[in-house]
Amino acid sequence: MNFELSAEHETFRKVIREFAEAEIAPHAARWNREHHFPVEIMSALGEIGVFGLTAPEEYGGSGGDFTSLCVAIEEIGRVDQSLGITLEAAVGLGINPILTFGTEQQKERWLPDLLTGRALAGFGLTEPGSGSDAGQTETRAVLDDGEWVIDGAKQFITNSGTPITSCVTVTARTGTLPDGRLEVSTIIVPSGTPGFTVEPAYDKLGWHASDTHPLTFTGCRVPADSLLGEQGRGFAQFLATLDDGRIAIAALAVGCIQAMLDQSVAYANERTAFGVPIGSKQGVAFRIADLKVLVDAARMLTYRAATLRDAGRPHAEIKQAAAVAKLFATESAVTATRIGTQVHGGYGFMEEYPVARFYRDANVLESGEGTSEVQRLLIGRSLGLPVE
Ligand SMILES: Cc1cc2nc3c(=O)[nH]c(=O)nc-3n(C[C@H](O)[C@H](O)[C@H](O)COP(=O)(O)OP(=O)(O)OC[C@H]3O[C@@H](n4cnc5c(N)ncnc54)[C@H](O)[C@@H]3O)c2cc1C
Repeated sequence: MNFELSAEHETFRKVIREFAEAEIAPHAARWNREHHFPVEIMSALGEIGVFGLTAPEEYGGSGGDFTSLCVAIEEIGRVDQSLGITLEAAVGLGINPILTFGTEQQKERWLPDLLTGRALAGFGLTEPGSGSDAGQTETRAVLDDGEWVIDGAKQFITNSGTPITSCVTVTARTGTLPDGRLEVSTIIVPSGTPGFTVEPAYDKLGWHASDTHPLTFTGCRVPADSLLGEQGRGFAQFLATLDDGRIAIAALAVGCIQAMLDQSVAYANERTAFGVPIGSKQGVAFRIADLKVLVDAARMLTYRAATLRDAGRPHAEIKQAAAVAKLFATESAVTATRIGTQVHGGYGFMEEYPVARFYRDANVLESGEGTSEVQRLLIGRSLGLPVE
């Protein structure tokens, strides 16, 4: 067994960490305070190659592995979770569905800008009436005169309304299967298409510097060749997209836990109480020791899942490992932010230190790309339990 990432991965981690500390960390508090989506940093992120990490070189990517993407998300998430989710969604939800299921023409049209940070794309699966049971989509698309006509609404869609969003891929019901189940397909909708409205951004608990909107589609017409992959494959496509997304969200959670560890160690060494650094009190030091245990365990589960995926192991094995990693890492991140803020005492409630921001941001990790309950459901099923 090998419990370490390769030397190349660690060198890459250093590059991303240096970038994150120089270009993101100094501005993160302000961006979050002002609810500012930092579009100005996207091309710099594009230049260091993070959007094109997993794409083949023929489209402008670097042909790297999924593990590298997780390293980048972890390191950016360590300084700011909003930027971490922006990258995670840009690649996992924006680029990957087009890269994996798109036609050559679609790849040539959309990928060059997405891979360089000149554009972002969103993935619209969740709806006002269906999140965990996302297969029950109410959004409809019907073919009319060589065009798909889309009507419906999507909810909580990341990167869907930034100044550089070029398109959103949405799931829609396109018919009924012979066994009575919904036929779901996936369609690429360019930003600015008449009938496609990006509604005002949400007022969120955290991730204040990330972009999240409701979307509405009213008689929105796109050419028939906007279909992503085959008609009726939408359900399978989004399940595959979410498997990868869970590993990537676990990496974001690892970044959060590492941030809590780093910041808690620093504060416990510098802050004094009763004439000594608070870190000399076992009550504080032991909680920080727990953070080390959480980050080591979460990181190992996350990179185990990423390694299985890179090794092309059987789908069931990757799916289970992804759910295990997502569940443990995200619940640990919530625990870690509770410990991190407590170590900071009253300052844990103030914006002077980043721990308060991480505390707000951690909450959504337990919901995005499948809630903790859904992960337990998937793990239960993978064990052969008849859980419904
Ligand atoms: C900031 C943010 C960004 C997001 N970005 C995107 C995006 O880019 N694209 C996208 O498509 N979606 C996105 N989402 C949506 C996200 O994936 C969903 O919120 C999530 O899957 C949960 O769905 P829901 O909110 O409808 O909750 P529900 O499905 O309504 O769940 C409510 C509660 O019931 C529980 N529950 C539901 N079913 C079961 C069950 N069978 N057994 C046990 N418990 C159950 C859930 O675990 C949860 O606790 C985003 C969400 C947020 C908050």
